[in-house]
Amino acid sequence: MRALLFSCQHYDQESFSRAAQHYGADLHFQPARLTLDTSTLAQGYEVVCAFINDALDAPVLEHLASGGTRLIALRSAGYNHVDLAAARRLGLAVVRVPAYSPHAVAEHAVALVLALNRRLHRAYNRTREGDFTLHGLTGFDLHGKTVGVVGTGQIGAAFARIMAGFGCQLLAYDPYPNPDLLALGARYLPLPELLHEAHIISLHCPLTEGTHHLINAQSLAQLQHGTMLINTGRGALVDTPALIDALKSGQLGYLGLDVYEEEAQLFFEDRSDQPLQDDVLARLLTFPNVIITAHQAFLTREALAAIAETTLENINRWAAGNPQNLVVG
Ligand code: NAD
Repeated sequence: MRALLFSCQHYDQESFSRAAQHYGADLHFQPARLTLDTSTLAQGYEVVCAFINDALDAPVLEHLASGGTRLIALRSAGYNHVDLAAARRLGLAVVRVPAYSPHAVAEHAVALVLALNRRLHRAYNRTREGDFTLHGLTGFDLHGKTVGVVGTGQIGAAFARIMAGFGCQLLAYDPYPNPDLLALGARYLPLPELLHEAHIISLHCPLTEGTHHLINAQSLAQLQHGTMLINTGRGALVDTPALIDALKSGQLGYLGLDVYEEEAQLFFEDRSDQPLQDDVLARLLTFPNVIITAHQAFLTREALAAIAETTLENINRWAAGNPQNLVVG
């Protein structure tokens, strides 16, 4: 089965080449992002493998289907970027990797919490400049603080377990309470109450119509002054301009983002020699209490290996008529 992988970085090529030795796949690596323009590259490929910022809207899917593509193999858990109705209409199957390493993402969320709290980003720069002063670096004990976990599936639960280990009190919001969280002593609350009580809030729910801009000016107004917000879920879970107002007023005391609503045109590329055209992101980057990483929470050796293996297993199973991890069948 010939498969074309879009948005391929060196690390993808390495992990997929390693996994292909076991699965015997015929893989072709394409660094370009999938867009309407680049979809012509997939002509004749039955399988197209895509990542989170590839465009999988109706026009692109139509183009792929007319070029002979029959399977879209996502290298991600999230599928909010796929027009599922269009895929169904065009007879395209869509598979995904439902879980590759919840620990990778949860641990990155915790890394953001720790770095923001103890201001490691500032301390790192300061000591490199020969400045060994401590003013402005005061943190707080995590022990005894209240942590709100929004979305308590695999990643949210892994995050909650780590924070419980620090001695934090856990609050949770999810339409489907997770017994693992209850066993950790978490209290499930309506979202407004969680937002009001938590010192640290971490978002781990999927992006859907119902969660789009879940965090907005109204919800930010419910926070305690100086709350920490972490988003490793999806950019559009938060209304980003509203974050800027909340940071300016001090309502948000710390902000850690691994995802950004407009990241598709920005992330995964070196743009350091060009002026940043996105004024919202540029403003966010000026705050000393904001850390932004470029969608790297998934990026561990274990997660990359699991993504490659599950994706190739998904492709083989679909080719054998015994599909797994189907989003659209
Ligand atoms: P999961 O399906 O195991 O858990 C998602 C949880 O969110 C479920 O328990 C679900 O009931 C809950 N949920 C659904 N709607 C909700 C709502 N309106 N409010 C609160 N909770 C709601 O998924 P997961 O593996 O834990 O992944 C969570 C999300 O993390 C993914 O959807 C994806 O967007 C994101 N993610 C990010 C990265 C990264 O690198 N930054 C990597 C993987 C996944």
